[in-house]
Amino acid sequence: MDKPVSYLQKHGGITKGRVERFLTNGQWEKVNLNASLYEAQVSGKRNIELEAWSASGQERPTFAHAIKQSFASIETGHNFSPSWSSHWVRATLQIPVEFEGKEVRLHFDPSCEALVWSAEGEPLQGITGGGGDTKHIDFILTSKAKAAEPKRVLYLEVACNGMFGNGVGSLIGPPQENRKFALTKAELVVLNTEAWGLRHDFEIILAMAKHLPQNSSRAWQALATANEIVNIYKVGDRKSISDARAVSAKFLAAKGGDANHQVYAIGNCHIDTAWLWPYDETKRKIARSWATQVDYMDRYPEYLFAASQAQQFEWLQTLYPSLFKRVQEKAKIGQFIPIGGTWIEMDCNIPSGESLARQFLLGQRYFETNFGQRSKVFWLPDTFGYSSQLPQIVRLSGAKYFFTQKLSWNNINKFPHTTFHWVGLDGSSVLTHMAPANTYTATVSVEDVISSVGRHKDVAYSNESLFLYGNGDGGGGPLETMIERLKRMENVDGLPRVKHAHPNDFYEHVEKNASDLVSWKGELYLELHRGTYTSQANTKKYNRQAELLLRDVEFLSVVAQSIAAGFNYPAAELDRMWKDVCLNQFHDVIPGTSIEMVYKDTDKMYAKVIDKATHLKEDAVMALFSHIAAESVEEATGVLFVNTTGWQRTDVVAVSGIRSAGVQQVSQRDEAVLMLANTVPGCGVSIADISSVQGDSMAVPVSVFMDGRGCIVLENIYITASISCVSGNLVSLWDRRVERELIPQGKAGNIFCLHDDVPLYWDAWDIEIYNLEKFVELQADKVTIVDEGPLVASVCVEVVISEQSRLRQWISLSATSPRLDFDCEVDWHEVHKCLKAAFTWDISSDVATYDTQFGVVQRPTHRNTTWDMAKFEVCAHKFGDLSEYGYGVALLNDCKYGYSTLGNTMAISLLRAPKGPDANCDMGHHTFRYAVYPHQGSFNESSVVREAYQFNVPLVQLPVNFGTASVASKIAGIKPLFTVEGASNAVLDTVKKAEDGHDHIIVRLYESYGGRARATLSTSLKVARQAHFTNILEEPTDRITFVADTAGRMSAEITFKPFQIITVRLALRK
Ligand SMILES: [Zn+2]
Repeated sequence: MDKPVSYLQKHGGITKGRVERFLTNGQWEKVNLNASLYEAQVSGKRNIELEAWSASGQERPTFAHAIKQSFASIETGHNFSPSWSSHWVRATLQIPVEFEGKEVRLHFDPSCEALVWSAEGEPLQGITGGGGDTKHIDFILTSKAKAAEPKRVLYLEVACNGMFGNGVGSLIGPPQENRKFALTKAELVVLNTEAWGLRHDFEIILAMAKHLPQNSSRAWQALATANEIVNIYKVGDRKSISDARAVSAKFLAAKGGDANHQVYAIGNCHIDTAWLWPYDETKRKIARSWATQVDYMDRYPEYLFAASQAQQFEWLQTLYPSLFKRVQEKAKIGQFIPIGGTWIEMDCNIPSGESLARQFLLGQRYFETNFGQRSKVFWLPDTFGYSSQLPQIVRLSGAKYFFTQKLSWNNINKFPHTTFHWVGLDGSSVLTHMAPANTYTATVSVEDVISSVGRHKDVAYSNESLFLYGNGDGGGGPLETMIERLKRMENVDGLPRVKHAHPNDFYEHVEKNASDLVSWKGELYLELHRGTYTSQANTKKYNRQAELLLRDVEFLSVVAQSIAAGFNYPAAELDRMWKDVCLNQFHDVIPGTSIEMVYKDTDKMYAKVIDKATHLKEDAVMALFSHIAAESVEEATGVLFVNTTGWQRTDVVAVSGIRSAGVQQVSQRDEAVLMLANTVPGCGVSIADISSVQGDSMAVPVSVFMDGRGCIVLENIYITASISCVSGNLVSLWDRRVERELIPQGKAGNIFCLHDDVPLYWDAWDIEIYNLEKFVELQADKVTIVDEGPLVASVCVEVVISEQSRLRQWISLSATSPRLDFDCEVDWHEVHKCLKAAFTWDISSDVATYDTQFGVVQRPTHRNTTWDMAKFEVCAHKFGDLSEYGYGVALLNDCKYGYSTLGNTMAISLLRAPKGPDANCDMGHHTFRYAVYPHQGSFNESSVVREAYQFNVPLVQLPVNFGTASVASKIAGIKPLFTVEGASNAVLDTVKKAEDGHDHIIVRLYESYGGRARATLSTSLKVARQAHFTNILEEPTDRITFVADTAGRMSAEITFKPFQIITVRLALRK
């Protein structure tokens, strides 16, 4: 009989339905292609004998430890539990004789993650059990079985967590404690390779039929081809399968034209260094994922895979040295590509400028030492927004390209570019590409590949895109099926061309060939995850403390090493501490979006860093000043102050423990002695006598009084601040210097607003715009005078937030500054609430200025456009500032990062209460400080940058004993160690020893206001005349000559461009 013609074009939908069912599981799997995928499958004790041993609690024992334990027999159906526990399975395998000559695979599905080990202790490959697209349960035992295979033993290290942890109900639900994972499969199989080949062909042809333009000839050809294949195929008939393959091969052999879009594909497995699992599980995820990928490299010599984060490589190096060696070998031949250049894929909102520099310094040095190469690509596919100083930092760190895709998550505006020049604060530029597939976990489907053109917003100028494929977030990486599909899509008419490529090849090609690429200036603000400036308050606080403490340790240690005989710079300790600080800046840790277990670990790490750094700081101070230090605090007759900031400062300082008889003032809050540290030189020291009246320099003490109108008034020579006894609000702030009221009639400052904080889904991540509409203003429960001068006057405001939560705040004013400090203690037990402190100023400005890494960034105070509106909550470092011509007010903080400014009201986000993925996020006791700093002149004319440093970096104190001799005379010879003079906008940020072990000092400075500066950098240390400017990697660029000045110091003039970061390398003279 003649075969009827199918008239496909008349019933395309029905035919599509038909051919789709050729690959589906379930109803038709016994009659479609799935019925032919395996030639043989065996299970049961004769071929697979399983025994298991369970580690106790959450221990993750080593291979050597595990295999010595006593194992008990198990079978499929066995449950591994509870969550986070580890189980070792010994599998004794007998390949049947009838498998001779075949490739034989083990299928092992524990419903969770596992690592296959050889009997000799070699990690071989990862396993991802359970359902879903990430499933990867087959391990190749032999590519060609012998007639009589001996029994062989493998170990499987089973980890009781899914690829995405152990969340309940939802991905980001807090982890379930007692999750069980069933061993659902343990069998030996022989694949029907021809049927698998047909499957991969068919997936592409089917998807082309569905996703190419429906009126295109290629779509119809694809459908006709698929239909023909289904007609040819017969279950279990080898010949029908090879006949069908001939049809699919013919279709796929039709090539596209030269002008087709080129997709540069790179395998990757995004491993979140901690997220829905702790760091210790990540260490195993790395081994599981990378072992799998190294194996693919053996099987597919053309296959390329990139991995970022030096920390992950270092863990592998320490914990899995043999696998690390294999990675190094694959890197040598260019298949395994270490990329990114940073220590981890860090958050770019919270870390300080110096932290960002250290991420590259540690990362690039690691890659260079262990792989002989630096990364040219700064690689951050998943980070929540990108600081405007990054282009300069990237350029100064030996990289010049930038990759991400995260801005595709914007929830208000679509980011308008794919391939463009990203221009930073200072004008530095990096060639940037945002993968148009909008993911780093593509599966190499036809849809993924087509979207690389369809969503490419600059395709008119650059006809290529980067394509990151492979399972990720929880690791895993590309699967065999993805690599097989990629092979077939290299050049197929109707699709973009796809090739394996090193990311460098992509960027270099764009650089050479793209014309007219557009530029984007300034920050790449992510219009989402705005709660990450605030969630997990303690982590952010510890990070700020650690960053500034390490700064002090480095500065003081450089000085001690240069001056004090026998002092050794603690390079190894600093390296360890910086690595931990950088690790915790990972893009799910410091943003506050990890599970509770992660923060239990980071709390301990920070406690260790802060404790160690505090001791090292004391060691350096003692090395310098032990000759005048008091034997005990009680017998101190004075206090030595060391100023580690680069400018002269005058502070009122609280000194604990010293005798209080005869002193000017003792703090009523904590009984510390208050002392005036008067005009302490920048990078220098001064001494205060405990009992001498220091009134000379402080003609007018600060005072506190009731004004008769229900307010407590704090007043010094600069300002008069009135605090309502009813609300606790700042109802008036009068600048006495210019006779100006700063608070508009009927408005107030320091209003505690308790907002509803219910995002759409991403709980710990998101503050949403509508939550700004819904809040209550909290009223004070009690307002009392605490300190009455002469050095400090203060008021205590007590606020009942709710039945569960309380706040106490000390508002204080010193005699020496217009800065009004707010020192807070909160017991916080809320559910989906956000606490903000809001200040309304009589100041008019369309923009507010915020502290960022090595500079400032301005954002709108209005909501004219959707781009303005999207920035309703923004990230700031030490301050936000609202200034108009001639005057401004800064809102400083010591550990907060979320600001929202609308019109003339600036609010700072203090605490949130999300419940996922950490059910207890931020519950409990908190302490933090913020301050208001009114200044004459606009922001650019102010000293806000310095004031914010001072608010965060206290003077170092050392109780000293004058004894009989004059201590003052003993320190008279100590000249300021560094000074930066001639330009108040040039900031001395970091002084450290060079990383390469030479006796060189690194000094990092930056221009902080966005203008030019010509400053003189001087040091009293003995340094050589010849010095160098360097990049962040501390490599010399240009020479700079220091000359001895009249005071015997070495000086050089440095000119700065706006927001320029300048690093100088000085050689110490012996
Ligand atoms: Zn991530």
